[in-house]
Amino acid sequence: EVMQGSNGQGEKILVSVRLRPLNEKEIARNDVSDWECINDNTIIYRNNLSVSERSMFPTAYTFDRVFRHDCSTRLVYEEGAKEVALSVVSGINSSVFAYGQTSSGKTYTMSGITEYTVADIYNYIEKHKEREFILKFSALEIYNESVRDLLSSDSTPLRLLDDPERGTVVEKLTEETLRDWGHFKELLSVCEAQRQIGETSLNEASSRSHQILRLTIESSAREFLGNDKSSSLAATVNFIDLAGSERASQTQSAGTRLKEGCHINRSLLTLGTVIRKLSKGRNGHVPFRDSKLTRILQSSLGGNARTAIICTVSPARSHVEQSRNTLLFASCAK
Ligand code: ADP
Ligand code: MG
Repeated sequence: EVMQGSNGQGEKILVSVRLRPLNEKEIARNDVSDWECINDNTIIYRNNLSVSERSMFPTAYTFDRVFRHDCSTRLVYEEGAKEVALSVVSGINSSVFAYGQTSSGKTYTMSGITEYTVADIYNYIEKHKEREFILKFSALEIYNESVRDLLSSDSTPLRLLDDPERGTVVEKLTEETLRDWGHFKELLSVCEAQRQIGETSLNEASSRSHQILRLTIESSAREFLGNDKSSSLAATVNFIDLAGSERASQTQSAGTRLKEGCHINRSLLTLGTVIRKLSKGRNGHVPFRDSKLTRILQSSLGGNARTAIICTVSPARSHVEQSRNTLLFASCAK
């Protein structure tokens, strides 16, 4: 049986791929671009494959949308995330993910998408004076299966609690009621600063940690218009900048895996399993509870929730193995 989305259609994850340009370092070492988006849906590998490789790797991959190296983040937002992210104003939970290897463009993409969404939400509120809106913002980081508040200078790990009504909640997580756009931008800089503090004490933390920014919107009809106060809505949109996908690959040396413990990949691996199960739309067991990331996001994944995944890919020949892994992950999600 197919899971039903809120719009009555079978639930489907919106999967797109964004190819970034070669960067200066890659150009300086004479790396070349081997990937090309040949239309809005298909990305191909152009380099010649050996006969044995040809039987192992597809050369063309098709998705809901692929974005060329020169596409703007605005376009990626408009066509790869907006519909999913803005369903939050109608009371539908949603999640937008950036997935890809370190330096492929996840943060670049997700920070733009987060700002465009919040700007559009403010535009929506401006046009709907008949309702009253409250926006609440929170931010957290998951590193080694430990959860940290990005709006607080207290770095004590936060516990997850099971609330009978709200599901999994992050205990003591700061939640700020947004006053306006300026306040939102201020909070983004607080997150950025907190994230960097973590990075200096923990080597290369950004490639190993997941960042979740969450915006909860509550709205109700204004009483003075004689509307029914009972028509109140509440939903959350999550923006997830995932740990580098190389952390989920099987190719790491045993030493690295030992040092990082078995936790480092758990959230990313479990997310992969959860996404694959959800995309198949089967009723079977979905292992949300196996990692912190999937526990926190459970009410915003599957069921009535909407999901978009943007997979970021480096075009460089030297990154072909990771790019293939990313495209295979993306293929499993659609
Ligand atoms: P990640 O978060 O996946 O590690 P970043 O988002 O930090 O990667 O991107 C790595 C670098 O590449 C940054 O300097 C970023 O500005 C640049 N970059 C990423 N994607 C693009 C793009 N689509 N166009 C131009 N520059 C990009
Ligand atoms: Mg990043």
